Amino acid sequence: MATIQPVDSYRHQGLRKLLVQNIRLKGITDEQVLNALEKVPRHFFFDSSFLEYAYEDKPFPIGAGQTISQPYTVAFQTELLQIRKNDKVLEIGTGSGYQACILAEMGAKVFTIERQKTLFDKTSKYLHVVGYPTIKTFFGDGYKGLPTFAPFDKVIVTAAAPYIPDALLEQLKPGGILVIPVGANDVQTMTTITKNQDSSCVKKEHGAFRFVPMLEDKAKEI
Ligand code: SAH
Repeated sequence: MATIQPVDSYRHQGLRKLLVQNIRLKGITDEQVLNALEKVPRHFFFDSSFLEYAYEDKPFPIGAGQTISQPYTVAFQTELLQIRKNDKVLEIGTGSGYQACILAEMGAKVFTIERQKTLFDKTSKYLHVVGYPTIKTFFGDGYKGLPTFAPFDKVIVTAAAPYIPDALLEQLKPGGILVIPVGANDVQTMTTITKNQDSSCVKKEHGAFRFVPMLEDKAKEI
């Protein structure tokens, strides 16, 4: 069955403008990030019965026990990445694909990994339908990164990591930035690691956030 192209109505565009104003008031200043949030229709990533929730600044369940991140969190992580056009970006945790589309909208070349097969299958197909066919999706374990396509200018982890995986640091270019929520409990600390030209790393912390856990290995097939 063919998937129908969803509609972006004036009402949705209006709601998106209000959401972006709200996110600006919460302290996001990067115009490129705000622009991308205004462009990508977040309601495209919601089931049609829940469309009215798409423009609230809240996370929302997307099935398979996973969530689409809160828009403010997406904006916050994306701002920390300091995206430049043509940056090669690795995302861990494709989920709905919304964050990947925000990065693609900003001109990044996006590689994204998901460990749940059902979500992977659904989102991989859907990214073409919503107009982001250049995003490259992979079914695999984000703890291992994507050695075949490394190194990356930027790496973003959108699940709660109990520790910073070595593979992700190794696959970061000198001058690159890794953004990762770190913590094994309910609350994680948003952390950036910047790799210097001599490959030494600088770590900074940016406050508390809540994510679903980053789990080891691909999920068992049902
Ligand atoms: N970026 C997503 C939100 C993701 S929620 C969006 O914009 O919608 C976190 C996602 O990370 C979930 O889909 C979960 O299945 C996935 N995940 C958890 N551990 C992982 C791992 N080790 N490798 C890849 N994906 C993982």
